[in-house]
Amino acid sequence: MRPNRQELIEMLSLQVKDEIDKLYKRAYEIKKQYVGTKVYLRGLIELSNICTRNCYYCGIRKDNHSLKRYNIDKEEVLKEAKWCYEQHYGSLTIQAGERSDNLWIDYIEELVKEIKTLTDGKIGITLSLGEQSEETYRRWFEAGAHRYLLRIETSNPELYRSLHPAENSFENRLQCIRSLKKIGYQAGSGVMIGLPHQKGEDLADDILFFYDEDIDMIGMGPFIPHHQTPLAYLLSTFNPEQALEQALKMIAVTRIALKDVNIASTTALQALHPKGREMGLLAGANVLMPNITDTRFRDGYQLYEGKPGLNENALAIRKALEESIYSIGETIGYDEWGDSPHFRRKTSDQS
Ligand code: SAH
Repeated sequence: MRPNRQELIEMLSLQVKDEIDKLYKRAYEIKKQYVGTKVYLRGLIELSNICTRNCYYCGIRKDNHSLKRYNIDKEEVLKEAKWCYEQHYGSLTIQAGERSDNLWIDYIEELVKEIKTLTDGKIGITLSLGEQSEETYRRWFEAGAHRYLLRIETSNPELYRSLHPAENSFENRLQCIRSLKKIGYQAGSGVMIGLPHQKGEDLADDILFFYDEDIDMIGMGPFIPHHQTPLAYLLSTFNPEQALEQALKMIAVTRIALKDVNIASTTALQALHPKGREMGLLAGANVLMPNITDTRFRDGYQLYEGKPGLNENALAIRKALEESIYSIGETIGYDEWGDSPHFRRKTSDQS
């Protein structure tokens, strides 16, 4: 049943601590019932910070000339993928700035194929590489990727326009999400929470957007201003506690409303609080994306201020992650793809 907009707005606007805690508990009960308490991991490879776009909020936007741009070569990506596989993560995600030149399209296709071969077809591959043509999405799907993340950023077209240059239309982004689904990907989307001029109604509409577009997996995180972007002026009034609380409420309300989707507890939560990702799990998220990119590249992939884990190595991150998941009484779905139950239900309905 389509969630009730007014109820979503009311839940999102809760301010009293007790009531917010109750909201998290309710979301956690629904999570237990529909997706369980097993956390699925996707090792995150931040493949390149080269980007052709100029999104006003993003630290790796094209016009940020103070960044050293990098692109990880094939040999190294395969090494990271192998590591991920040997750690039993089950899945990996390749994310990067946006490029759609032929060299890049070929490179991704080749990488996906080789990672599949390297892991005997066993590792699940998610891509998060921005807007592409349907043909490109299809080639990457045929190469072996089966999930794709493309955040709508905000479902309010006007707000979207205020955050992107005119040539990057809301309509095209939406079209891309629809193409991904048509091709057969499990489609992930999401929004930034706490954007300038974003209202409670907008967040409620974001959840309705996920429902209407039948999104399988959701990655949302707090908006965090970055000093080398046009939105840097928001840094002086940025309130991390408030941003964290708003993001956690959004996760909880999304779980309550959509029930069986995968929801990621994103790194941006951890940027605001050392235990941010665990808090995300307790508010209803069930997927984590530990960064496995070699630490020497991390400096170059600061989408937002204070991105964590810059000086840790992947093994240390894995240990810490395991301990923190066990400490809240949850387990890890090692060696499993951890597909969205929402997607599985749909496909079995059709069969
Ligand atoms: N280029 C790809 C993927 C990389 S960006 C794409 O466009 O899909 C991944 C996500 O980082 C974006 O979708 C956006 O939601 C998030 N992001 C970028 N800048 C951010 C900021 N300042 N605060 C919080 N999240 C941000």
